Amino acid sequence: MAYQTINPTTNELVKTYPNHTDADIEAALAAAHKLYKSAWSKGPIQPRLQVLERLADLIDARKEELAKIVTQEMGKLISDSRDEVWIIAEIARFYARNAERFLAPVSIDSALGDAWVEHHPIGVMLVVEPWNFPFYQLMRVFAPNLAAGNPVLAKHASIVPHCATVFEELVREAGAPEGAWANLFITSDQVAKIIADDRVQGAAMTGSEGAGSAIAAQAGKHLKKSTLEMGGNDVFVVLDDADLDKAIEAGVFSRLHISGQECICAKRIVLHEKIADTFLERFTSAMASVKIGDPMDEATKLGPLSSADASVNLAKQVQRALDAGATLHLGGKPIAGSGNFFEPTILTNVTRDNPAYFEEFFGPVAQIYVVQNDDEIVELANDSRFGLAGVVFSQDIERAKSLASRIETGAIWINTFASTAPELPFGGVKRSGYGRELSELGIKEFVNQKLVLVSKAA
Ligand code: NAP
Repeated sequence: MAYQTINPTTNELVKTYPNHTDADIEAALAAAHKLYKSAWSKGPIQPRLQVLERLADLIDARKEELAKIVTQEMGKLISDSRDEVWIIAEIARFYARNAERFLAPVSIDSALGDAWVEHHPIGVMLVVEPWNFPFYQLMRVFAPNLAAGNPVLAKHASIVPHCATVFEELVREAGAPEGAWANLFITSDQVAKIIADDRVQGAAMTGSEGAGSAIAAQAGKHLKKSTLEMGGNDVFVVLDDADLDKAIEAGVFSRLHISGQECICAKRIVLHEKIADTFLERFTSAMASVKIGDPMDEATKLGPLSSADASVNLAKQVQRALDAGATLHLGGKPIAGSGNFFEPTILTNVTRDNPAYFEEFFGPVAQIYVVQNDDEIVELANDSRFGLAGVVFSQDIERAKSLASRIETGAIWINTFASTAPELPFGGVKRSGYGRELSELGIKEFVNQKLVLVSKAA
């Protein structure tokens, strides 16, 4: 696929970017490997952390310009783009200020002698990233790897090449040496060749199940470590004692955030039968009255989907759900006119034999389920191929905590929508992937946790 910027609000082609050649890839690999072998990667951590501090400051200084680039390239609301730019600076700062502590040796109490675990870089990394958080996804893999000393080759999604090039420029401007981060506009076949290369030691991938499976298979074939951050069909549980005002507000926000194109968000809305009718009535009216329009307009609450293909595919997916017996409660189709706008949509009566029951809808489509008790909630939540995140709304925190511990996901939020922060680990179980990004856990995914032991007898 060609690397192109197409404004999703108008579908105007803004710019096409040429692909990198095999020779470009070899040059990037050679530079990255040379850097890995140098004192930059293997020596003191402070010079690398100073790059992250400078990068955070550079991002802060260009906040508005960077936010506009995101909105114009993939269509999220300008306020959400500002939030994304804010958090990438925070992630850079978080690792700049904490990585030394995270990577310090950890001593182990052992009968065999004086033992400790050291943390060392492992070599060149390949990362493959999606378009829905076009800067945040890159920072999640760049900052911890830079701090740890792993050079990174990055393949970004083909619909966000402007973000990809700007991120590379920022990293260079912050003082990272050649090889620390290389953006490559490449094909899936070229990704496979990079993974196979002996100089590459790990692959991190965020995106769809198909792509994740392909990359994990290639990494497995060549005995390279991988992490996968895939999709989800998160539950958003509202118990009979929940604060409904807060739950409805969070549910609408979460389902429509980034036009519903977020991995962690309210996808299956699970309602206790006692509040189901009230919640559905008020949730429907809030979804129906949301202001749809230009994502650059501060008053807009729902912008376009990221591409024309995304809109066509979502419409087909909704139709398949209806053909299999679901009821269309609200919306259901693309909005006529220019841009990739899609109606806020609610599906009810999605039964287990409907393919939609197990699918992720990557757009403003909510599924509603009604349950009678907490055991039914757990059964429904866990009857999923995915296991990314979830939300529980209840004023009985102990009851919510008990549900949280029984739901099979990488994370659960109580009385708020699912979100992210540099210090919080991010990742899933089942087909939502494996491994963690962000936090102390994230930086330890691609380091050599090396045991050293001095014998007691020595
Ligand atoms: P996608 O089609 O898998 O694309 C993601 C990236 O993978 C893009 O760079 C894409 O390149 C590349 N790609 C696709 N097939 C590939 C292959 N066979 N070999 C190598 N690279 C390949 O995913 P998407 O539809 O853009 O992203 C949405 C999905 O990502 C959703 O399921 C969402 O839930 C998930 N997601 C998960 C997280 C998380 O942290 N768990 C975060 C964000 C998104 P091209 O663009 O060139 O096709």
